[in-house]
Amino acid sequence: MIDFSLTPEQQTLQKKAREFAQSEIAPIANKIDSSNDSKLVPWEFCKDMFGKGTELGFTSLLLPQEYGGWGKKCIDLTLVLEELGVADVSIAASYFNLTAAMSLLIAKTGTEEQRKRILSHVSSGEPHLFSAAESEPGVASSDFFCPKPDPNIGMKTFAKRDGDAYLINGNKAALITNSGVADAYFIMARTALDQPMQESTSMFYVPADTPGLSFGDKTEIIGWKASHHAALYLDNVRVPAENLLGQEGQAGELLMVLPEVAIGLAASFVGLARAAYEYALDYAKQRVSWGSPLIEHQAVALKLADMMVDTQSARLMVWDAAHAAEDNPQFAATVKAPAAKTFAVDVAIKNAQKAVEILGGYGVTKESQAGKFLNDAWIGYSCDFARDMLRLGLVNSM
Ligand SMILES: Cc1cc2nc3c(=O)[nH]c(=O)nc-3n(C[C@H](O)[C@H](O)[C@H](O)COP(=O)(O)OP(=O)(O)OC[C@H]3O[C@@H](n4cnc5c(N)ncnc54)[C@H](O)[C@@H]3O)c2cc1C
Repeated sequence: MIDFSLTPEQQTLQKKAREFAQSEIAPIANKIDSSNDSKLVPWEFCKDMFGKGTELGFTSLLLPQEYGGWGKKCIDLTLVLEELGVADVSIAASYFNLTAAMSLLIAKTGTEEQRKRILSHVSSGEPHLFSAAESEPGVASSDFFCPKPDPNIGMKTFAKRDGDAYLINGNKAALITNSGVADAYFIMARTALDQPMQESTSMFYVPADTPGLSFGDKTEIIGWKASHHAALYLDNVRVPAENLLGQEGQAGELLMVLPEVAIGLAASFVGLARAAYEYALDYAKQRVSWGSPLIEHQAVALKLADMMVDTQSARLMVWDAAHAAEDNPQFAATVKAPAAKTFAVDVAIKNAQKAVEILGGYGVTKESQAGKFLNDAWIGYSCDFARDMLRLGLVNSM
C-alpha cells in the first residue's frame, strides 16, 4: 500500500523549515523585492541566512552521514524546499537546491578522494555556495538535448589536457546562477571539439579563487530578485586533473544520476504555487464586494478551489518523483523529475495568474505580492532547461 503520511521526524523537519522560511527568508525577500536599487547585490542580504540554513542541514540533508550529511531521502528535501519556496522561490532554488544538488553530485559520482576534499566543509557546518555553468552566449542551451552527432552543435568552452591538468577557455552565459558569489563552480566544457558533444562534454570542479576565472555584472531579470545571475569567463583556467568529475566526455552520464536538481526545483515551485493560493485565499476572506467577502462569490471560490487542487496534484507528482529517485534514479531523471518540474511550474504560473485576478487592481500594484508570484513563476519556463525541451524528452522516453 502507498502511504502518503509523513513520519514524526518528517513533520518536525517540515516545521523547522517553515519556521526558518518565515522568520529568516520572508523578511529578506520582501526587502529585496521592494528595493528599486538595480545595483543591489542580493547575496549580501542572503549570506547570513544561507549560513543559518546550512547549519540546519538544508544543503546537506541527502549527503551520507560519513561526509557530515544527514543521510535523509529525497522526499525530505522536497518537504524543506516547498517550505522555503513559499517564502521565496529564488532563494529556495538558487541557494539551497543548487548547493544541495551539486553536493550530492560529488557524493554520488566523486572518487573517495574528491568526496573527502570537496565536501570537507560539510562536517564543520561551514556554508559553501555552489554554482553550475553549462549555458553559453550564442549557443542554444537546448543543444544539450540534440541527438545529432555533429561536433559543431553545442557548447564551445574547451578544456585542453595539459600534463596533469586541463586548461579551460571559454565564456558562460549571463544567466549563470550564483556566478561571482559562489565558493566553487561546476563547469561543463568540451574536451574535444572535433567529436560530438555527447561524447566530449566533461564536468570540472573549479574553486572560485582559481586564476583566470572572472565574472560579469549582475544580470537584471524580471523575477527571482533575491538570486544572483551573471556571466562567467574562463581565460586559461588551470584545473588539476583530479578535479575532473566522472569520466572525460561523460558529463551527460553524471546528470542521469541526479534527478534531485529538477525534483528540488519542482518542490520550490510547489511552494510558490501554495504561497499564491494562500495569499489569494486570505485576500478573498477580507475583501468585501456586494456586501459579502469575495470568497462567498462562487466565481472566486471556484478559482481558489482549483488553486488548492492543482497545488496538491503538483505536490503528489513531486513526492512520486522523489520516491523514484531512491529506487531508479535514471528513470526519475528522464521521466518523473522533468514531468514533476513541468507540472509544478505550470501550476505556479496558473496560481499566480489567478492570484492577480482575485486581487483585482491591487494585484498589479507593487505593494501586493501577486505580481511578484507571477514574475517568479515565469522563470520556471527556462531555468534548468527549457520547458518544451523537458516535454520533448518525455515524449522521446515513451
Ligand atoms: C533564472 C535562470 C537561471 C539560470 N541558471 C543557469 C545556471 O545556473 N547555469 C546554466 O548553465 N544555465 C542557467 N540558465 C540558462 C538556462 O539553462 C537556459 O536559459 C535554458 O536551458 C534554455 O536555453 P536557452 O535560453 O539557450 O534557450 P534556447 O535553447 O535557445 O531555446 C529557446 C526556445 O526554443 C525552444 N527550442 C529550442 N530548441 C528546440 C528544439 N530542438 N525543439 C523544440 N523547441 C526548441 C525552447 O524550448 C525555448 O522555448 C538559467 C536560466 C534562467 C532563466
